[in-house]
Amino acid sequence: MQKHCLAGVAQHKIEALNTNLRGFLKQIVAIYPGSFDPVTNGHLDLIHRGCKLFDRLVVAIARNPEKDDSLFSLEERMEMLKAMTADLDNVTVDAFEGLLMTYCIENHANAVLRGIRAVSDYEFELQMALMNRKIEPRVETVFMMPAEKYSYLSSRIVREIASFGGPLSGFVPELVEAHLRRRVAQKRAATSEIPIK
Ligand code: ADP
Repeated sequence: MQKHCLAGVAQHKIEALNTNLRGFLKQIVAIYPGSFDPVTNGHLDLIHRGCKLFDRLVVAIARNPEKDDSLFSLEERMEMLKAMTADLDNVTVDAFEGLLMTYCIENHANAVLRGIRAVSDYEFELQMALMNRKIEPRVETVFMMPAEKYSYLSSRIVREIASFGGPLSGFVPELVEAHLRRRVAQKRAATSEIPIK
């Protein structure tokens, strides 16, 4: 009986200690920045992996008003991303302009998530990560690899396939495919209205 009680007290102390230690553990808030023009299954693969690793994941669409040749408006890209991540409790979608590191600090983020598809991504990503570390050493860049089947996938390739009416299934969710088909048709209609001289 006595032994049982002591064991209970010890357990209680351990739990209290664990609770205290847990208080010291940081919440990891990560930003996943990109143009997402449009979101692909490769991006979604990374978001699903990231949300298991971080306490919170913010998918942040980078806005560049000076060089905006995107196929979809910021609002459209945001709407697609929100629809595709609605079932993920710790994922939010936002947009930002300017320096990524400023955005991270303003949003109390301590990590940046980036995807590495092939060796070709590495050089650019390394340069960006090291420069960002120089600007803001409190923020770590974390690289993740998608499933192999998405390692050749990019928004640019998806836009190109769509512009030629090629197959998109498996590359983007159905909702995004519908948006792509509609946008390509709109663009075609607009250009066919321009008389050829
Ligand atoms: P894209 O290169 O497709 O235009 P973004 O500029 O939106 O994409 O990229 C945002 C981030 O998502 C980058 O870190 C990029 O490496 C990553 N990413 C893009 N496509 C994939 C993919 N198929 N698999 C894994 N990561 C990806």
